[in-house]
Amino acid sequence: MTAIDLPLQRVLIIAPHPDDDVIANAGLMQKTRAAGGQIRVLFVTDGENNGWAQRFMERRIFLGAGDRRRWGDLRRREAEESLIRLGIPQSSAVFLGFPDRKIAAQLMSGETALQTRLAQEMDRFRPTLVVAPSRFDLHPDHVAISCFAHRAAAESAWRDALVVTYVIHGSGGSSRIQAEVHLSPCEQETKRAAIACHVSQLFLSGRRFLSYASETECFYPEETDLAVPSRAQLRAGWRRHVLAALRSTIRSFRGPQRSVR
Ligand SMILES: [Zn+2]
Repeated sequence: MTAIDLPLQRVLIIAPHPDDDVIANAGLMQKTRAAGGQIRVLFVTDGENNGWAQRFMERRIFLGAGDRRRWGDLRRREAEESLIRLGIPQSSAVFLGFPDRKIAAQLMSGETALQTRLAQEMDRFRPTLVVAPSRFDLHPDHVAISCFAHRAAAESAWRDALVVTYVIHGSGGSSRIQAEVHLSPCEQETKRAAIACHVSQLFLSGRRFLSYASETECFYPEETDLAVPSRAQLRAGWRRHVLAALRSTIRSFRGPQRSVR
């Protein structure tokens, strides 16, 4: 399946953090605009708990609640600028303000506030396509939000949406790909410009982030396993993600880029 075959009339993108939307979907968003479709992006968290990037960028060790709030505000502004680069109006962005790095804990404790909110947004927007994070991702927030998003799609009164998923940290498996979006050189350049708006994230991992502006975006099927992952599974995934990111950051300080995707 290619972008042409996807139902692009109303596309709802669920982004755990500001930047996941463009990293995984900037090509899809450009195809949607070109097809005359509408886009809504739900930013679940503000990415305010992104401590090491903030410490390096601001050259300080200790971060208080006010510092994190300010970082979250910065990341919201970057997300809005990034969408504008794609020609998407600010009004398409909805910031849900759930706590960064706490979503997995919410899932495990049985909290359902995020699931309810996502279902409300689906009822309101009536998407033809829902693009959600995947439980195959290594980041615990992405895994947890995948569970909440799929449950919300089942709970929503609006049932006419195709659900696809995306993986940013790790691999979704080439045999599982359901749809590919192929970007033209111009679309790749626009995606690169959109990612570059996330200055706070480029400081430590610039080359890795910009490498996401590749020729293809891959989307995976709706997920049927909605069981809550164990704490050990989430921890193991998180360790693999942190090690891969660390290796990539060290490489980017040393010399030529090699993609970690
Ligand atoms: Zn993320």
